[in-house]
Amino acid sequence: MKESPETQKLEKILRSTKISAFGFMGTDPRSLSEIISSDLTDIRELGITIAKIVSRMKEITAKAEPALGSSIKIDNKLDVRIDEAKGRIICPWPHPASFPIRITYVENPQTGEKIQWTDLNIHLIEEHNFFEGKGSPYRIEPKELAKIIF
Ligand SMILES: [Zn+2]
Repeated sequence: MKESPETQKLEKILRSTKISAFGFMGTDPRSLSEIISSDLTDIRELGITIAKIVSRMKEITAKAEPALGSSIKIDNKLDVRIDEAKGRIICPWPHPASFPIRITYVENPQTGEKIQWTDLNIHLIEEHNFFEGKGSPYRIEPKELAKIIF
């Protein structure tokens, strides 16, 4: 399917290394719509929804917020730490949205499984169903994410 000029322009921005050092697409050769639809298929197969994922990510980040910079145990299960850097990062989609540069690190000490996300990741997932391309350091695998946070 031929993509619209708007989508092509957006893909170019997402592959650029100007906003994010590795670009949002990483080394993923697939188109933006292919990446999104493949991740949505994974999520459907898990029997969950974007809304459920996003609400749980926000809940975890909010619970760790008071301990900013140090690790805190939440839900008797996960070790969570938030680190924040100065400045803000903008959403690459053509609309005004910017976020603190903040990373939430989550670990399940029982299994040793770890995952991390930024505030921008949460927005990209919630508003654009975009988990980033494979090879991007901020790519989130929906299946890995679901296994750890639920
Ligand atoms: Zn956006």
